[in-house]
Amino acid sequence: MRVCIHRGSHQIGGSCVEIEQNGLRILLDFGLPLDSDHDKRSAIPATLAGLNERDQSVLGVFISHPHLDHLGLLPALAPRIPVGMGPAARRIVTAAAAFSGHPWARPAPGWDYRSGQSIDVGPFRVTPFLVDHSAYDAYALLIESQGKRLFYSGDFRAHGRKSALFESLLRTLPRGVDVMLLEGSTLGRPPNDGRIQHESDIEDQFVAEFSSAQGLVMTHTSSQNIDRLVSIFRAARRTNRLMVIDLYTAAILQATGNPNIPQSHWPDIRLYVPQRQRMQIRKKGLFDLLRQHAKNRIYSEKLRERAKSVALVFRPIHCLDLEKANCLTDARYIYSQWAGYWERGDFSALGAWLSRHGIDKKSIHTSGHASSVHLEEFVRVLTPRKVVPIHTFVPEQYKRLFQNVELHGDGEWWSLDKEEGERNERLPQKRTAKKKQQHWSPVLEAQKIGQFQIVPLTSSKQLGSEGWHMMNCVADYSNACKNDEYRVFSIRNISGKRLATLGLTRKNNQWFVDQCFGPRNSAENANLELFDKHGKAMEMVDWYREEGVLESSTDFDLEHGVPTATLSVINRYGKVDYLEVDTDLGLLAQEIEQLMNNRE
Ligand SMILES: [Zn+2]
Repeated sequence: MRVCIHRGSHQIGGSCVEIEQNGLRILLDFGLPLDSDHDKRSAIPATLAGLNERDQSVLGVFISHPHLDHLGLLPALAPRIPVGMGPAARRIVTAAAAFSGHPWARPAPGWDYRSGQSIDVGPFRVTPFLVDHSAYDAYALLIESQGKRLFYSGDFRAHGRKSALFESLLRTLPRGVDVMLLEGSTLGRPPNDGRIQHESDIEDQFVAEFSSAQGLVMTHTSSQNIDRLVSIFRAARRTNRLMVIDLYTAAILQATGNPNIPQSHWPDIRLYVPQRQRMQIRKKGLFDLLRQHAKNRIYSEKLRERAKSVALVFRPIHCLDLEKANCLTDARYIYSQWAGYWERGDFSALGAWLSRHGIDKKSIHTSGHASSVHLEEFVRVLTPRKVVPIHTFVPEQYKRLFQNVELHGDGEWWSLDKEEGERNERLPQKRTAKKKQQHWSPVLEAQKIGQFQIVPLTSSKQLGSEGWHMMNCVADYSNACKNDEYRVFSIRNISGKRLATLGLTRKNNQWFVDQCFGPRNSAENANLELFDKHGKAMEMVDWYREEGVLESSTDFDLEHGVPTATLSVINRYGKVDYLEVDTDLGLLAQEIEQLMNNRE
């Protein structure tokens, strides 16, 4: 597997990575640089070749998340090249495209991600993992090809409304990663007071502002920062204000497809369409869209009357209307996105408008990117052989945080395979000698129990193979097996597919279930439906779904050594519920434990 970062090795924005194996290629992200003037053709990295219609070697483009600096070049791509991305991300980009002022195409069809589910394309296997980021439906990507693994972090953080995702990602991360391409947007920024603000802190700060303001509150944020819109909505409700959105924001919220995210028809939400957007609607024929969101529509007069109890999701296109409708008495302006836009002058006209009306700028924001603490935690758990910086202005600073950093510049090709060969050549002779194979006896012979095949693993080679396929660290148990302190079974279905790895430990001549997990030490990948014969867990998940849960996750836990599925669910009141259920896998593990002890 060969890799080239075409852009991103020492800059934030415009990320584009190419991966090649046997002449076949895929791209990870295809972004527009932040300072680009939207001329897409000229923004294509000069080192990236063969994107025309005739070249069949590019098998697809895999987008990490719907931010322009990661997918803004898609319109310049030959339409035959399929595009992989999250299904909600695809809907959001499509919804935004309807409003876009510059030439902009919808992403070509391709693959819709499902977190943890692999996509096979040519010699590559691509597995997306849902992450917490300021863009909705964002993913990290694992790329596997011919025994090599590259993990691309995409953009992520651990302090948003989906911060639980970071924890669950740490638990389910693949093992044996050769190269981690790691974003470092926050590195090199002036240190804050040491505390990372969580999205819920932002909500509390909004509450303080909303409740003390005497007039209209205008919160200026990106309508695609869904976490932030939820914070505004919750703060508005806590301070008895109506959340007022425009049609663009309404369309993006709808495109999430998530009924728990605020929507234009909710009772505490109003739709207000500024003049410039009305022109857009006429020009682009968005009448159907307007009709869909018109249930709670208000006009300028009502907005003025209720200004004191309104939290407006502000965009600069509102300025003229607010001024004309006389809504600005005691108004307050809160800036709630990246400070850089102001610093580089994007909002200088807005600044002049605010000072003309005597309105101060107040900033409330938390980054969409992980702090160095969380970056370190990520690397510590993933333990990649190498960390390669991307999406950062300060690649050399990685060396202060991580030991195994390798810098690769834009346009430079490097190989995961060759690297290995070179490394081995440099090692002294005796260390390149093949590791001695270890063998031990099976306590229990291979057999079929119910719907499962139970295969004892009796050599270090078999453990290595199981570890590679299941992405766990079972290979480390070779010595314990040799010393008869441990035994490992591969649990497979009738057609031989590996479902789970079962490890038993021996203490005082007694065998105990030690661990029993699906691929990547996770339960989700172990196919809960299969293991939940009585359907109790799935029944509960369905019930919670009907109740409108915000988030749910499933976890295999070892209760007294027996794999138990724990469902954790955040219900609509923000309360966490836990539910433990027996699993077929748990019952099977107990049965094997019993059989082992009968042999002692
Ligand atoms: Zn991003």
